[in-house]
Amino acid sequence: MKWKEQIHNLRPYQPGKATEEVKKQYQLESIIKLASNENPYGFSPNVVHALHHMDSSYMLYPDGNATKIRAATASHLDVNDDQLMFTNGTDELIQIISRALLTPDKNTVMATPTFPQYKHSAIIEGAEVREVKLKNGNHALENMLTKMDENTAVVWICNPNNPTGSYIPETEIRHFLASVPNDVLVVLDEAYYEYVTEPYDSLSFMEEFPNIMIMRTFSKIYGLASFRIGYGISSQTTIKKLEPIRLPFNTNVLGQLAATAAISDQEFVEDCRMRNRVELEKYYAFCEENNFHYFPSQGNFILINVEWDGDEVAEFLLSKGIIVRSGKALGFPTSVRITVGQKHENKLVRNALAEWITTKR
Ligand SMILES: *Cc1c(COP(=O)(O)O)cnc(C)c1O
Repeated sequence: MKWKEQIHNLRPYQPGKATEEVKKQYQLESIIKLASNENPYGFSPNVVHALHHMDSSYMLYPDGNATKIRAATASHLDVNDDQLMFTNGTDELIQIISRALLTPDKNTVMATPTFPQYKHSAIIEGAEVREVKLKNGNHALENMLTKMDENTAVVWICNPNNPTGSYIPETEIRHFLASVPNDVLVVLDEAYYEYVTEPYDSLSFMEEFPNIMIMRTFSKIYGLASFRIGYGISSQTTIKKLEPIRLPFNTNVLGQLAATAAISDQEFVEDCRMRNRVELEKYYAFCEENNFHYFPSQGNFILINVEWDGDEVAEFLLSKGIIVRSGKALGFPTSVRITVGQKHENKLVRNALAEWITTKR
C-alpha cells in the first residue's frame, strides 16, 4: 500500500504497565502505580456527585460545542468562550495543531527530551523536526531561537517540562516570545500548570503575543485522565482556524460533565498542590542523603538519576509492586521518573530504593 514514507518507523505509544499484569507477574496483592503522573488523590467528590446525577439520554450525541465546560473554564480563567478549544485530552490538541500547521516543507522546533507527542505528530505530517537539547534539564531557549527559520511553523515549549519538571522563569519566556516571529505558533504545554508553586500568569502573555497557544488538561491535577478532556487557550483567530480540524464530537458526555464538576472545586486542586509539594521535598531530602542527582520539579513527578540502568531499577521496583517509568525511554537512560504519590506510597518507594542501594548497587 501507499503508506506515507515517514510512518514506517513509528511505534504505538507504550503505556506504563497495567497493574493487573504486574500483580500476576510478581504474585503481588497490591500495586502502587506511579508511572503516568496521574493524581494519587483521585478527583473532587463533586465529580462523583455529578456522574450519579447524570441524565440518561445516552442515545444522543454529546454537545459538540462543549458548552457547559466551556463556560465554566472561561469563567475560571477569565477569558472569552471563543478563546477556548476542548479536545480528547491535550494529546488530540497536539495532533490538531500539527495537522493544521505542519507539512513536509515546514519545520517544527522543540526541546529534547520532552513530551514525545509533539515529535510523533510532526513526523506523521512529514514536517522536519528540529530538536534542541535541554541544558541542565531546562529548555535552551536561545538555541531554540537559532534553530528557527522562515519555514518554522510551530515551536513547542513544555512548561513545566516532562520529564524533568523544570519551569521557565518569566523573564526568559517573555524574552523568547518577543524574539519569535509573530507568524510562528508558540505552544505552551502547561499540563502541570496547577502544580507550579509560584506560577506566572501566562494567559496575560496573549495580549502582547497573540501567536501563542496554551494547552492545559483535566488529566493531571484534576484527576480525570480516564475521561480524556484537555483544552487550548489562544486568540479568537487561532481558535477559529483550528476548530474545523477537530472531530465534531471529540469530547464525550461523561468527560464534559466530570470536568465541569471538577473545575468547580478549586479547594481540591489547592490541596493536591500543597500535598504534592510536601511529598516532593521528602524526595529531595532522600536524594541528597543518597547522593542522587535530581531535577527540582514543578510537576507531580521527579526524575532521579540512579546512575544505573534505568530499566533495571524500574524492574527492581516493579518486583516490589511499584510501577515507575524507566528513564531509558525518556532520554535519561540512568534515571527513573517517579510520580509523586500519597505519603505512604512515597515512603514505600524510598524504602525500596534504599533496599536497592544496599543490595544491588
Ligand atoms: C500528560 C501530559 C499531556 C497529555 O495529557 P492528556 O490531556 O491526558 O492528553 C500533555 N502534555 C504533557 C507534558 C503531559 O505530561
